[in-house]
Amino acid sequence: MARVHNFNPGPCTLPYSALQKCQSDFLDYGGSGMSIVESSHRSKEYDAIHNDAQKLLRELLGIPANYHVLFLGGGASLQFAMVPMNFIPKGGSADYIITGSWAKKAFKEATIIQKSRIAASSEAQKFNTIPEAEALDQDPLAAYIHLTSNNTISGTEWQSYPDFGPTPVVADMSSDILSRKIDVSKFSLIYAGAQKNLGPAGVTVVIVKDEFAAQANSGLPTMLAYKTHIDNNSLFNTPPVFSIYLMKLVLEWVKEEGGLDVIEQKNRQKAETLYQAIDGSDGFYRGTAEVSSRSWMNATFRLPTEEQEQQFISEAKSNGLIGLKGHRSVGGIRVSMYNAMPLDGVEKLVEFMQDFSKKNQ
Ligand SMILES: *Cc1c(COP(=O)(O)O)cnc(C)c1O
Repeated sequence: MARVHNFNPGPCTLPYSALQKCQSDFLDYGGSGMSIVESSHRSKEYDAIHNDAQKLLRELLGIPANYHVLFLGGGASLQFAMVPMNFIPKGGSADYIITGSWAKKAFKEATIIQKSRIAASSEAQKFNTIPEAEALDQDPLAAYIHLTSNNTISGTEWQSYPDFGPTPVVADMSSDILSRKIDVSKFSLIYAGAQKNLGPAGVTVVIVKDEFAAQANSGLPTMLAYKTHIDNNSLFNTPPVFSIYLMKLVLEWVKEEGGLDVIEQKNRQKAETLYQAIDGSDGFYRGTAEVSSRSWMNATFRLPTEEQEQQFISEAKSNGLIGLKGHRSVGGIRVSMYNAMPLDGVEKLVEFMQDFSKKNQ
């Protein structure tokens, strides 16, 4: 079996040991005589998976006791709507920081539901940077301020978070959750689609502070109210059982690796290795993100011509390095290096890059 180095932006590479465990468990889960995908979501087998996954996430991220951890369907994109539905009161407004296409989509949903405003935007800079704290124009009455921690498409990431004052902070962390340590207590709500660092598509993690959840609007359709899922431990309806199961295996892998201390160090090393190759290429590769805003998860760069970019992608593919095409909205090259991408994969890519630039100067 030949496994490639998979640099896809999501769904993306997952830890091999988790996939193997999933395979060996698949037909007969824990001696139950059936697959976990054939088991009831009310069974004791599934119940243990559900609660273990929550516990592991709490432990790895250091989630305080006064937060709920929810496993929902609908992707991060449904959170774009659920957040304003639940948390902007009638006649109120929320602030959004627009740092990329996903942030823009989140903002658009909020404006459908209630009035919302832009507190800062880097759209004029083609999203190549994270706004400075001084550039923030916050509404002191905002129900919350929303940010996107890592901009998967443009390749920028918040390196640290400014003090947003007393306004509750809501963050879309879909593409960098669990990649480094964070202080969860600075956020009132965090959400993340699983398919980058957490597992397969199908489950969305929501981490919400009790005090914030208690302020939610009433009168919402049952499935769209966080309260429903809080009150039912995310078992109001059938949860995405298989996705949660595989996510649990991924979380176990993170723990075995040594937790976020080790993961963070590895991610830093991968990112430094790649950016050094870009910066050391005498301008053949041009990083598109401002250096101080560069993402550890998604590195974006251009080659001298679009033809060379196409050639780069196809030659890389013949070398077992796949998923390097930039998002269709921006072009160029994007290297996604989520937790499960080993340093070895990045080093192979860097070797290929050096080779390619020599041949095509
Ligand atoms: C991938 C991604 C999304 C979209 O997630 P879905 O689960 O497909 O809805 C949203 N936000 C960010 C930052 C992403 O990277």
